[in-house]
Amino acid sequence: MEKSCKGVLYLVATPIGNLDDITLRAINVLKEADLIAAEDTRHTLKLLNHLNISKPMISYHRHNEEFRCEFLINKLKEGENIALVSDAGTPGISDPGEEIVRKCIDENIKIVPIPGACAMINALISSGISTKEFCFFGFLPLNKKNRKEKLSEIKDINKTIILYEAPHKIKNTLEDLKDVLDDNRRVVLAREITKIHEEFIRGNIDELLSKADNLKGEMVLIIEGNFTKKENELNNLSLEEHYKYYEKQGFDKKDIIKKIAKDRNVNKNEIYKVFVNKKEK
Ligand code: SAM
Repeated sequence: MEKSCKGVLYLVATPIGNLDDITLRAINVLKEADLIAAEDTRHTLKLLNHLNISKPMISYHRHNEEFRCEFLINKLKEGENIALVSDAGTPGISDPGEEIVRKCIDENIKIVPIPGACAMINALISSGISTKEFCFFGFLPLNKKNRKEKLSEIKDINKTIILYEAPHKIKNTLEDLKDVLDDNRRVVLAREITKIHEEFIRGNIDELLSKADNLKGEMVLIIEGNFTKKENELNNLSLEEHYKYYEKQGFDKKDIIKKIAKDRNVNKNEIYKVFVNKKEK
């Protein structure tokens, strides 16, 4: 751990279920920090007890973020090293963290990320939906107008979409999504990641809705981007753009060539000759 006149803010990722999902570096930082700022100190105490770590803690959550920030910045200025943790996963991702990071930058205080679990990344990589480009929306807004705006954004985005949702709101959210998603859009609900009842439910929006009454636990929704370009739109693209269009959706070179040939109604060997030396990204 660093020693300088100013302290360091460590952003420490913690497990999202399975307590073994903590890195050696995270353990060392938690052991050596002067103070741990935790979203819920009782929750983090369980993790610290599991790791046999005893350390002063202070709460840092959505409701005290502003004034607690000032206190923490003063401690950092006095040279204390602070580890910031949330209840689960990576601080700052749908969790407190953003505010203090900005203040540290203003005050020239060093910020060090300690990487680890994050629900959205693990849901995405297990989903089978393209990981090439994605948009993370966190929780959909509850306010009707803002929610409607987000849903209409989701309707047209041609990148994978990631949402967090609470179990008691999932049915309502899936119903709202049904209004904006075509039947052929793939959706994956990743539930209880790293826990005993870990499950990935794959299907379209109707298939997920048919199971919505019995969904429990923590969950992430992964939604395929909107790739419903019309055939004539595709054929107006250059061959390179046409290739990129399918590449973004996660298809491999062989499938892309087949698809382009089909869209353009030409023999696939013709397309193959153009892309023969193209390496897959
Ligand atoms: N900072 C956290 C992270 O890095 O993923 C997210 C915190 S956010 C307040 C909590 C939401 O994350 C839950 O409502 C759920 O959508 C998702 N989540 C957290 N743990 C999860 C898990 N084990 N399985 C599925 N989703 C999870």
